[in-house]
Amino acid sequence: MVDKDLLNHRLAGATRRGVVAGLAGMLALPRALRAQSTVFDIDVAIVGAGAAGIAAAHALRARGKSYVILEARDRVGGRVFTDTSLGAPFDAGAIYIHWAEKNPWRDIAASLGARTINSDTLNAPSRFYENGQLASRRGQRGGMEAVSKLLDTDEGPVPDISIVERVAGLPEDERGGGAAIARMALGDEPEHISALDYARLWSGDDLILPDGYGALVRRHADGLDIRLSTPVTAIDWSGQGVALDTPAGRLRARAAIVTVPVGVLKAGSIRFTPALPATTLEGLEGLGMGALTKLGLKFNGARFGLPAGGDLWDRLGPRASFDFECWPFNRDIVVALFGGDHAREIVARGEREAIAHVLDEFVRLVGADARKAFTGGALHGWCADPYSMGCYSHARPGHADARAKLATPVADRLYFAGEATGGADFGGAMTAGGAYLAGRDAARAMDL
Ligand SMILES: Cc1cc2nc3c(=O)[nH]c(=O)nc-3n(C[C@H](O)[C@H](O)[C@H](O)COP(=O)(O)OP(=O)(O)OC[C@H]3O[C@@H](n4cnc5c(N)ncnc54)[C@H](O)[C@@H]3O)c2cc1C
Repeated sequence: MVDKDLLNHRLAGATRRGVVAGLAGMLALPRALRAQSTVFDIDVAIVGAGAAGIAAAHALRARGKSYVILEARDRVGGRVFTDTSLGAPFDAGAIYIHWAEKNPWRDIAASLGARTINSDTLNAPSRFYENGQLASRRGQRGGMEAVSKLLDTDEGPVPDISIVERVAGLPEDERGGGAAIARMALGDEPEHISALDYARLWSGDDLILPDGYGALVRRHADGLDIRLSTPVTAIDWSGQGVALDTPAGRLRARAAIVTVPVGVLKAGSIRFTPALPATTLEGLEGLGMGALTKLGLKFNGARFGLPAGGDLWDRLGPRASFDFECWPFNRDIVVALFGGDHAREIVARGEREAIAHVLDEFVRLVGADARKAFTGGALHGWCADPYSMGCYSHARPGHADARAKLATPVADRLYFAGEATGGADFGGAMTAGGAYLAGRDAARAMDL
């Protein structure tokens, strides 16, 4: 979860989805579109059916341009996904419509009749623990408040240094708040994150969707031309337009909007010919991906005296903590969040072991009855997922210009858009709203 108002709302009181496989699917474009050009199959190929790709498709359709979305997974939504596998739905990726005042997903939710609730109104109390022992709220919360205030300050220019360096002047007992914010809100260790990049992020009202953010994104994709289970493996931009290779064949387009996560681009999962220009590569080099992870634990209805909607925060030490969100919307589920290197280590154990470990931690806080009442778990380790390779992007210290570099169009036919390039001055970065703005604006700006 990305949220500049973390303290306010979380610590208060603490498609078209038929898989079109095979080359035949690629070529099954409407004849009228193919007739537009002897060279190109289509105007724009969009890579990725997450928030950015879906927004780009809507914008292109509104412009009367032909497009197709090529999506590697067998579902749409990318990092916005409502998991229903445990019988009690929970958002395994994005959950909040952040800075709702200007977030396009708020209006989309309204137009589709999706319920939203301002998270400030969900005031369930939180409990704080130090390594399994109930602790005072003041310690952890005080540190986070002090750090949050410092990081958000409007006084003077914010230096492009790490969060660790930025909070170095605070009293020792407050500095730990920097690590907590970095790891649990941004997903990574504070030494890896530029304080200036963080300072640029927008804040505002946070809305939550009882029926799932992922469910909303999925509905917004209905009717779009999306080829699922179609990973793009290579993009050739050496000649006119672009040629995209997938296991289903080659597609030629005038231009491409590439919305795959920064982690996927950094991993080299898509081969570019010729190699990407220095500006794009510098942008990728300057960005990192966090590891915020969610793990759902399902119970048989027992509640262990915990109120619905409350959080249990357990700081295990300077480099590890858990947040257990209990019974969201009164469902029989607890969603554990953990980030940074602590999360990478747990995810690397594999789903079975990760669930057993996190259940042990929960039992330590609430008692052995929880083990008896446990009925199943689900891990969402985005940092090990080949189609995300991380939760969301951050600029590394000294690289606050990295997002602008990545957003620079390549040869007027290759556009990188997504959460990493989201919103004016990148204030929407890291979020599904920012991804939407980035995809939409790229599609509107293209000269076709
Ligand atoms: C745990 C967690 C919590 C979060 N909480 C929030 C929150 O509360 N609020 C918020 O606004 N944001 C939150 N986020 C961030 C938000 O989910 C992302 O910023 C946003 O969804 C990114 O959208 P996107 O379109 O840029 O990328 P994605 O959603 O990742 O979409 C990119 C698509 O590209 C596809 N793809 C990858 N490789 C290929 C390939 N080779 N060929 C074809 N397709 C490919 C992927 O499968 C994916 O569908 C959270 C993220 C996580 C992981």
